[in-house]
Amino acid sequence: MVISKNMAEKFEQLARMIGNTPMLEISLKYKGEERKVYSKIEYYNYSGSIKDRVAYNIMKNAYEVGIIKEGDRIAEATSGNTGISFAAIGAYLGNPVTIFMPDWMTKERVNIMKSFGATIRLVSKEEGGFTGSIELANTMGAKEGVFLPQQFSNPINVAAHYETTGKEILDQLSKFEKTPDAIVAGVGTGGTIMGIKKSIQEFYPNCKAFPLDPSNSPTMASGGKIIGKHRIAGIGDEFIPKIVKLDELDDIIMIDDADAINMSRKLARTLGLGVGISSGANFLGALKAQDILENKDSVVVTVFADDNKKYLSTDLMKEQTIKPGYMAQDVELIGFKTIK
Ligand code: PMP
Repeated sequence: MVISKNMAEKFEQLARMIGNTPMLEISLKYKGEERKVYSKIEYYNYSGSIKDRVAYNIMKNAYEVGIIKEGDRIAEATSGNTGISFAAIGAYLGNPVTIFMPDWMTKERVNIMKSFGATIRLVSKEEGGFTGSIELANTMGAKEGVFLPQQFSNPINVAAHYETTGKEILDQLSKFEKTPDAIVAGVGTGGTIMGIKKSIQEFYPNCKAFPLDPSNSPTMASGGKIIGKHRIAGIGDEFIPKIVKLDELDDIIMIDDADAINMSRKLARTLGLGVGISSGANFLGALKAQDILENKDSVVVTVFADDNKKYLSTDLMKEQTIKPGYMAQDVELIGFKTIK
């Protein structure tokens, strides 16, 4: 199937607004000890998160293979950023979007998607919450003229990170004259960790890949059971997605949501990096990875998946009480260097 000239042009313009995000080398002291952490600044993308990479590649492929045409509806279950990405890209391409999401997500998220013209269907706990959202999206997708991206099982989710995020990390680290010892990423669909891991290990097979889970409600360590609540939106959903291959990954790193919040707040207050909660978790996860590797100078790369604007009505705005085992209070941020 040949994609129309008009559509090809739209994809070309979109491509310039997605990916090729900056990488920061952040200098800090942890418990008085000098360290560095490397992170991709993913809120630079088109609609403000790492998920634009995935939505763009899924849509481009769908047009190329002819499983969607202009005017067809996109139906997806998502807790936030994926929905925002599809809503924005769908608006530009001329595809209406319906998003199914649990009804306990923040108002900002719902309103951002609505601002892009998407229809939002909130799903209560009684209707199945997150898994219920997926089932409802699949039911809608069985209809003619509805396209289902299926981010939790779509291999393009991993491929997008393999082709773009991972390759950018290799390129940017080499500009810092570094080679990676480990990557850390909080797992939602798992696309980020699985994709980056694949591209980095092609060149550095000994590079570790640590998936990260909220310690308040660890999805992966509990075998996919719901055992509690947590506040790190975008990761630790209610099941282990199909694309996550735990046997190909290293230790699961656990971070408490209050500690993640305090770390995100510190990144904003001291470096002006207004990041979302999962970014604070990933940053602390990178420090834990250095501890696991027993080398404070090891090169650990992570991602700041989105910015703080979706969390302004949440606990991100409240400093959290420190409990034993928390790390953020022992981090002193010093500065950063940027590679584009
Ligand atoms: N952080 C945030 C804020 C996200 O929205 C997501 C995507 N759900 C992730 C982390 C995790 O990314 P992935 O789905 O690739 O595992």
